[in-house]
Amino acid sequence: MRNENEFDVIIIGAGIGGLSAGNFLQAKNPELKTIIIEQNNYPGGYVSGFKRKGIYFDLGAEGMLHFEKGGSNKILNELGFNHPVLQIEPIEANYRNNDFLNMFSSRDKLLVEIETKYPHEKENVIKFLNECDAINNEITDSGFTSPKITFLDLLKVIFKYPKLRKYGLLKFSHLLNRFLTDENVKNLFKFYCTWLALKSNEITAPIAANIISEAHTFGVQYPVGGMLAFAENFADHYRKNGGQIQYKSEVEKIVISEGVVRGVKLSDGTILESPWVISNADLQRTVFNYVGEENFNKQYLKNIKRKELSITGALLFLTVEEIDLTQYPPHFNVSNEIDFDYLITRLREGYFDYEFLGVRIPSNIDSNLEVGNKKSIIILAFTPFDWNDNWKANDKMERKADYKQLKKEVTEKIIARIETAIPNLSEHIIFSELATPLTFERYNLASKGAWYATRYDQIVGNYKSPIKNLLFAGSNISGGGVGTSLYSGLKTGQYLSEKISNNK
Ligand SMILES: Cc1cc2nc3c(=O)[nH]c(=O)nc-3n(C[C@H](O)[C@H](O)[C@H](O)COP(=O)(O)OP(=O)(O)OC[C@H]3O[C@@H](n4cnc5c(N)ncnc54)[C@H](O)[C@@H]3O)c2cc1C
Repeated sequence: MRNENEFDVIIIGAGIGGLSAGNFLQAKNPELKTIIIEQNNYPGGYVSGFKRKGIYFDLGAEGMLHFEKGGSNKILNELGFNHPVLQIEPIEANYRNNDFLNMFSSRDKLLVEIETKYPHEKENVIKFLNECDAINNEITDSGFTSPKITFLDLLKVIFKYPKLRKYGLLKFSHLLNRFLTDENVKNLFKFYCTWLALKSNEITAPIAANIISEAHTFGVQYPVGGMLAFAENFADHYRKNGGQIQYKSEVEKIVISEGVVRGVKLSDGTILESPWVISNADLQRTVFNYVGEENFNKQYLKNIKRKELSITGALLFLTVEEIDLTQYPPHFNVSNEIDFDYLITRLREGYFDYEFLGVRIPSNIDSNLEVGNKKSIIILAFTPFDWNDNWKANDKMERKADYKQLKKEVTEKIIARIETAIPNLSEHIIFSELATPLTFERYNLASKGAWYATRYDQIVGNYKSPIKNLLFAGSNISGGGVGTSLYSGLKTGQYLSEKISNNK
C-alpha cells in the first residue's frame, strides 16, 4: 500500500508543457498516480491570464500558430480534450504612417494589401510564399523540423527533397533576398523572426518557411474565453483522468540518489517520492538549483551555462472604458518601420527605444471578453532584462520606490506612443499595471524573465536528461511558443507512457 506522498510520476510546473505531458500520461494510463506541482495558484504558466475588477487579461501568449488543424490538437482530440478557438485575423497589422498594413492569414486578402501598398512586389510575394509552401511541404513529408540543421541531418533528406537540399543549410535572410527586393516588404516577413527572438540571418530558411507557410495557410488561433480558459480546461481534463495538481507548492530540490531520481523536495520541506520526474521548469534552475551541479558531468554543465536566453520584455495591462476599438485589428504593432533585425540587435546590446510596441485587444477576437463598456488592452514591449540597472531593483533584486517611479515613466511613454494610433487613449484608462522582466522572473520562475526560454537556435531539443529517470518538457528544451511547448510535453508524455507500459 502506497502512502499519500508516493507517486508514479511527478511533474514540476503546470505550464503548457507540464500539462500536456500530464494529460498524455493520465489519458493513456488512468491507473497511474501522477501529480503536477505548481508554485502559482493557477495553471498554464505563460499560457494563462488574470482578472482585475472583472476584466480579463492574458498574461503571456495570445495566439497559437496553426493550432486548430495542427498535429498537436489532433493528438489532444484523441486524448479526449477539446477547446474551441477563434481565428485571429489579421494575424498582425503594422501601423505605419497613419495606416495599417494587415498581415492576413488569407492569401487573397494579404495580396490585396501588398498590391495596394507595394504593387511592385506583388508578384515577388506570390513567388516567395509559393517557395515557402514548397519547403514546408517537404518539411511535413520528411518530419525534418530541427532548428539546428547539421550536415548529417541534411544527408538524410538530401536525395528525396530538393528544396531542403537547396535551403537546408541556408538562413532565412537568403530566402528573403532571393525573392523580395523592397526592404519594407522583407521586414513584414522578418516580423515572424521576432516570435523566436532571432534575426533573419540566425533562423534557418526551412524553419522560417514553415512558420510563414503555416501562418498564411492555417492562421493563428485564440482560445474562446482567453488563454486562462484554455489552461483551466486542460488542467480539468487532466484531473478528470485521475491526475492531481498541487498549487502554491514550489519544488526546491529534485532528490537524486546513486544517480537515479527518487522524487522531489518542496520548499516547505515535504518529500514526495516517485521513480520519474518531469521538469517543465526553467532549464538553468532545474540543472543548477533543483538537481545540483554535482550530479552532472563538466561538459554538460558547460553546455547548459553557454546557452543564451531568448528575449524578455514588459507588458502593460490597461482597462479602458467608453471607447470603441472595434475598428482596430486585434493584434497590431506601432513600429515606425524599424527593421526587426535591428530591433533584436538593439535589445541584445541593452537598449530599449520604445520603437516596437505590440497592441493586443482580446475583445476584438472574443467579444464576450468585453464587460459592459469596459475591456482590456495589453501592450507588449521587448526590453532587455537588465535595462536601467535591472529596472532599478536594489542589489538584492528588491523593488522599491525607484522601481515604481521607473514603471510610471515607462507606462507614460508607452501610452503616449500608442496614442499615435489610438488617439485620446489615456482619457479612457481606468486601470493600468506594468509587468516588467522582473515580474516574469518572480511569477514564472523563468531565468531573467525570459519569455521564450533558451534562444531557439541553441535549444537542447532532447526530453531525456543525463540523470536517470529525469525528463524535460516544454519550452526549456523545445524553444518558446505554445505549439512547440505543447508538442514537446506530448512527446515526453508519450515516451514515458511507452516506457511504463513496457515495464508492466
Ligand atoms: C508575453 C509573452 C507573449 C507570448 N506570446 C506568444 C504567442 O503569442 N504565441 C506563442 O505561441 N507563444 C507565445 N509566448 C511563448 C509561450 O507562451 C511559451 O513559450 C510557452 O507558454 C511556455 O510554456 P512552458 O510550459 O514550456 O513553460 P511556462 O509557461 O514557463 O511554465 C512553467 C511552469 O512551471 C512553474 N514552475 C517553475 N518552477 C517551478 C518550481 N520550482 N516549482 C513549481 N512550479 C514551478 C511555473 O510557475 C510555470 O507555471 C509568449 C510568452 C510571453 C511571456
